[in-house]
Amino acid sequence: MGNDFKKEVLSRRTFAIISHPDAGKTTLTEKLLLFGGAIRDAGTVKAKKTGKFATSDWMEIEKQRGISVTSSVMQFDYSGFRVNILDTPGHQDFSEDTYRTLMAVDSAVMIVDSAKGIEDQTIKLFKVCRMRGIPIFTFINKLDRQGKPPLELLAELEEVLGIESYPMNWPIGMGKEFLGIYDRYYNRVEQFRVDEDARYIPLNDDGEIDGDHKLKSSGLYEQTLEEIMLLNEAGNDFSAEKVAAGSLTPVFFGSALTNFGVQTFLETYLQFAPPPKARNSSIGEIDPLSDQFSGFIFKIQANMNPAHRDRIAFVRICSGKFERGMTVNVPRLDKQLKLSQSTSFMAEERNTVEEAVSGDIIGLYDTGTYQIGDTLTTGKNNFQYERLPQFTPELYVRVSAKNVMKQKSFYKGLHQLVQEGAIQLFKTVKTDEYLLGAVGQLQFEVFEHRMRNEYNAEVLMERMGSKIARWIDQDEVDENLSSTRSLLVKDRYEHYVFLFENDFALRWFQEKNPNVKLYNPMDQH
Ligand code: GDP
Repeated sequence: MGNDFKKEVLSRRTFAIISHPDAGKTTLTEKLLLFGGAIRDAGTVKAKKTGKFATSDWMEIEKQRGISVTSSVMQFDYSGFRVNILDTPGHQDFSEDTYRTLMAVDSAVMIVDSAKGIEDQTIKLFKVCRMRGIPIFTFINKLDRQGKPPLELLAELEEVLGIESYPMNWPIGMGKEFLGIYDRYYNRVEQFRVDEDARYIPLNDDGEIDGDHKLKSSGLYEQTLEEIMLLNEAGNDFSAEKVAAGSLTPVFFGSALTNFGVQTFLETYLQFAPPPKARNSSIGEIDPLSDQFSGFIFKIQANMNPAHRDRIAFVRICSGKFERGMTVNVPRLDKQLKLSQSTSFMAEERNTVEEAVSGDIIGLYDTGTYQIGDTLTTGKNNFQYERLPQFTPELYVRVSAKNVMKQKSFYKGLHQLVQEGAIQLFKTVKTDEYLLGAVGQLQFEVFEHRMRNEYNAEVLMERMGSKIARWIDQDEVDENLSSTRSLLVKDRYEHYVFLFENDFALRWFQEKNPNVKLYNPMDQH
C-alpha cells in the first residue's frame, strides 16, 4: 500500500483514560472532544453519563445506567492526528472489559485528582498498563481547588505506582490562588483565567520572565521558581525513550472543568504518544504498516433488548486496512467471514464504517460467532495474536439453575458465556459447586440477564463477596488445606486456585504453608 496508507496509520493515536471515579475523566474527555470538534456542546458526554441523553435501544442495562455503546470509542481529528479514545468505565461498570480495553490501546492517560492523590482504581488500571509497557501520561486535575502539594503528588506517583515522573509543567499556586502553570516544555508561563492574547508569557533562557510583569512580584511565582530549580537539580531528566517504554510518565497539571491546561496537554501528548506498534503473534511480530488487514476482538457488548439478539464485537485493527464487505479469516474457527455489517464510533453518532486502518477500532455486528480474544486475519498466513491475559477476579458468587428442569440450557449458556470471556468460572474441589468470578458487579448482572434472554435459563446467584484469588502449582495441592477462609477451587482450565477470604487469611495461610507458592496472574508480566 502507498504512502497515504502509511501516513494514515502513523497519524493514529489510540488511548484510554484511566482514573478513579470522580477524578474528572468525563470532564477531560469532553474538553478533548470539543477541541477535536467531535461534539458541539459541552455537556454531551456528561448527559450520557447521567442518563439525560436520548440513547438508542442498545442495551437495557446501558440505558438504565445512562451509558451508551457510542461512548465506548470516541474518535476525532486534531492537527493532523486521528485520535481514538477508548472508554474504561468506572464505578459499578468496572469489569474485565475495562482491563481488556487496555490491551487495545497504544498509550494511556492517567488522571489524578490533586486533592485525593493516587486512588484504588487508578492503581489497578495502572498495573495493567504497566504490564503492557505502554506509555502513560499523567494529568493532575482540579488545580482550581486546594489540593495536595505538587511535590507530594510526585512522590506519591513514584512511591505508590513505582514509576519515574517528569513534570512537563508545574502549578503556580492552587485553589483560590491558582495563577497558572510554569511550562517547562514550552518554556513559557500559561496564566489561569487570562484571555488568550495575554495568557502566555515567554521565558528567557534562564527560565525566567524578562522585564516587568506583575506575576514576578507574587510569592507563589517565587515559590514555583524554587521548586523548578529543585526539579531541575534533583528530579528525573526527560527521556523520550523512557516515556515510550512506559517507565517514565510525563506529568501535566491543569483543571479540566475550567478547560485550563487541557490544550497544552493534548498538543504535547500528541507529540510523544506513539502511533500503532508491531504486535506479537503466533508467527512473530505483525507490522501495523503491513498491507494485510488483521485485528483482534477485545470486547463483546451484548444487546440486552430481547427483541434484538445481536451483539457488537469490538475489533482493534493491528495491521492493514479494513474495507467494508471484505472477507476475513477467523483462525480459531477455521472459517471465512464477510464483514458487511460494521460500524465506527463517533462521540455523537454511530456511522457505518467504510474504511479504517491500524490503530482504529471498528464494531462488528455479531450473532454469536465471535469470542473475546479472537484474531481476524487476511491473506495467506493464518495467525493468532497473543492470548489476552487472564485477569484476577475479585468478586464471587455461587451459581446454579433456578429450575432443575432447565439444567441443559443452564449449562449451555454458562459454558458459552464463560468461553466468550464474559465471566470466569470456577468449581469447588470438595463439593463440585460452580462459582463465578468477576472484577466488577456489572458482569454478574449482565450474565444473569443474558442467561435469561439468550438461553432461557433463570439463575440463582448467592453472593460470596470479595475474595483474593491465588493460583497454585498442581503438585503442591493438598485438598486438606481447603477451608471456608481459603477455599480450594479449579478454574476452567483445571488449574487449582485458592480463594482467600481476605488479606489476613492470605497472610495466615502463607505463614502456615511457607512451601506452597501462590501466584497472581496479574503480577506475572
Ligand atoms: P469521572 O467520574 O472521572 O468521569 O469524573 P467527572 O468528570 O464526572 O468529574 C467528577 C466531578 O468533578 C464533577 O462534579 C466535575 O464537575 C468535577 N470536576 C472535574 N474536573 C474538575 C476540575 O478541574 N476542577 C473542579 N473543581 N472540579 C472538577
